[in-house]
Order: sequence, then structure tokens, then C-alpha cells
Amino acid sequence: MSESPESSGTSGASGSSGSSEEKFQNPVAGFGVTFKAMFKKRLTEQYPETPKVTAPRFHGRHQLNRHPDGLEKCVGCELCAWACPADAIYVEGADNTDEERYSPGERYGRVYQINYARCILCGLCIEACPTRALTMTNDFELANTTRESLIYTKDELLAGLEEGMVDTPHAIFPGMDEQDYYRGLVTEAAPGTERQTAVSKGEKPDDTHRGNNGSAQEVGT
Ligand code: SF4
Ligand code: SF4
Repeated sequence: MSESPESSGTSGASGSSGSSEEKFQNPVAGFGVTFKAMFKKRLTEQYPETPKVTAPRFHGRHQLNRHPDGLEKCVGCELCAWACPADAIYVEGADNTDEERYSPGERYGRVYQINYARCILCGLCIEACPTRALTMTNDFELANTTRESLIYTKDELLAGLEEGMVDTPHAIFPGMDEQDYYRGLVTEAAPGTERQTAVSKGEKPDDTHRGNNGSAQEVGT
């Protein structure tokens, strides 16, 4: 037997009293949520006004490193490019000469590009690099508006000059060989080290060159 609405008794009366209680309780409950949130730790980050501090081993933009005298660590072996799962690295190696030397050994990276439209910042390339020429920085501000600007060239990736360094190309430290560089025996450029003329880049012997540290340097003849 089903119960008719009339015979159910108090349902109408309790419904109207419940709804008036709810009218009072609901806003109070709503403000309760607001009050609780007011005392919680704020998660809003004021970026870009306050730059985000990344974890020390964060995988950001790459950097091509130098030896302490300014010569480049990259030997143009392409192992980083072969290790890359996204095919984001392009390398062309070339031979050093005594007149135009970029790294202590036989070869150097003449062309080096990383395409950040492809790169997933996985870090496999830096694991593959045998000379620690390639590492990653904490710089994550890589967004841009054109595809071309996302292809970083060697000039953009190469580390700047620190104290004691001379911009490449320049001669190897006198009396040292490639192994000595990796043993840490070269700690700065030899006294009197001068930047050589980068003939392969179209420089002429009397060109005035501006180094990575922003200072103008006369090119030796
Ligand atoms: S971080 Fe990963 S995806 Fe990016 S260039 Fe290196 S290997 Fe390729
Ligand atoms: S960055 Fe390292 S792995 Fe890549 S070409 Fe240069 S030396 Fe080889």
C-alpha cells in the first residue's frame, strides 16, 4: 500500500522549517570556507615580478662550457645529437688548426644548434656528452613567438667569458696537451694569449672583434 502525501503527516511543516534553517546555515557554511582559506598559506606566485627559484638540478636551457682558458669543451662528436630522443640537436664538427683553434684537441663544434620547439628538457644529451661540454642551466624562460627564435645557435649557447679566459679561437696553453686540460692542469689563459682571427667565419686579419664578455678586442695578425 502506498502512502498518500496527505497521510505522510509532518513532511510539509518540517520542509518549510528546514528551508528557513538552511537559509541561515548555508551562508554561514560558505563564509566558513572563506575564513578557513584566509589563514592558509598563500600559493599564488608573483611571477614574473618575483622570479621562481628552481630546484638546484632543474633541467633548463643548455649551456656549452669552456675550459678555464676560454677554449671550448665541445669536440663536435655529435653524441648528444644521437642521444636526443626528440632529434632537437644539430652539430657539425670541424678540424682545429694551429692558426684557428677553438678546443684543445683535434676537433671542435663548428655548428651547434638546439631546437627548443622540439626539446623536452629530458637531459639525455648532457648524460651522453663525454667532455661535460654540454650542461643545463636553471633558465626556464624559453617561450617565444616564432619557431626561428626557438632554435638556439652556438653563439647563444656558449658560456660567457670568466676571469682568466680569452675568447676563441686562440692557441693551446704552451706545454700542455688535450689530456692536461681534462686533468685540470690548465687554470687560466697563458700570459699574453691573444684571440686568433676566425678566418673560417669570414674575419679578416685587421677586423676588430667584440668578445662574449662585451669588451672590444683587437684581433691579432
Ligand atoms: S634535453 Fe632531451 S630533448 Fe632536449 S636536446 Fe637534450 S636529449 Fe634532446
Ligand atoms: S656537446 Fe658534448 S656530446 Fe655534443 S658534440 Fe659537443 S662534445 Fe660531443
